[in-house]
Amino acid sequence: MSNLDREAVPALCGGRGFVVAEPVRELLSPRRVKLGESSEVRRLLPNLGRRMVGAWCFVDHYGPDDIAEEPGMQVPPHPHMGLQTVSWLHEGEVLHRDSTGSLQTIRPRELGLMTSGRAISHSEESPKSHARFLHGAQLWVALPDGDRHTDPRFEHHSELPVVTAPGLKATIVLGGVDGAASPGTTFTPIVGADLALAQGADVRLPLEPDFEYAVLSMSGEAHVDGVPLLPGSMLYLGCGRTELPLRAESDAALMLLGGEPFEEELVMWWNFIGRSSEDIAQARSDWMAGTRFGEVKGYDGNRLLAPELPAVPLKARGRMR
Ligand code: MN
Repeated sequence: MSNLDREAVPALCGGRGFVVAEPVRELLSPRRVKLGESSEVRRLLPNLGRRMVGAWCFVDHYGPDDIAEEPGMQVPPHPHMGLQTVSWLHEGEVLHRDSTGSLQTIRPRELGLMTSGRAISHSEESPKSHARFLHGAQLWVALPDGDRHTDPRFEHHSELPVVTAPGLKATIVLGGVDGAASPGTTFTPIVGADLALAQGADVRLPLEPDFEYAVLSMSGEAHVDGVPLLPGSMLYLGCGRTELPLRAESDAALMLLGGEPFEEELVMWWNFIGRSSEDIAQARSDWMAGTRFGEVKGYDGNRLLAPELPAVPLKARGRMR
């Protein structure tokens, strides 16, 4: 998905400034962002109170939306730089096309993982014939400096490892949990896991004390470390935990996001992550000139134009509130 926010406020991320070294319970409220005419997403990262969780730097939760009589998701070709995108669905399907020639339908609990490296462009749309409901999350992972110029590529993993405990089925999206590892390519120590909890579940999930974590609620009524978490909200958990208590009042679905605190300082603007204002300005002008980001073939419609750059130069710095 694209950041379709026409205001495209720059976010300055990274650094250790606001990593919380000990366990905390910090509730992050979503910001509602309009995508197109009808659909709306809940943006959890970047958030007024928090920019990143490990290398996770962007989290949108959308749906469930009834799109039976609608075209559904229609995100025209747009560019990315310096990041990976993770497409994660609970209901419906998304047809992905990109400038490396990928054409892939992504279905619930399959991993669509796009590594932009130095430059890629893609489109995402609901297929013409689609399921009634669309429900999912779109997430971005920042690439470290040594890998941010890598070749663009797309991976689709329909079989992901699953860890089970009484009342819990954890699907490993990225990284590893309890010895089970996702086949998705990663560039920093990171984890993403889909946690399906059955009503009445009361479990403890093993965590890495060096990682910082957050949990996104996607559906149902769950308590995360004792805090009731409503769908579309996120709980930041800090570092220093070896396990996470989870309870479910009803069937519920959560996403665990974590990783080693991302120490490099970043500039994030529109669909780009760079290290300087110049990186971002160059990417914008290359996209507008039709160079560098390749071509998405087969999408029925025009590509997205970049918003105007802010008048004030962007400067990378630490995590800020
Ligand atoms: Mn995108």
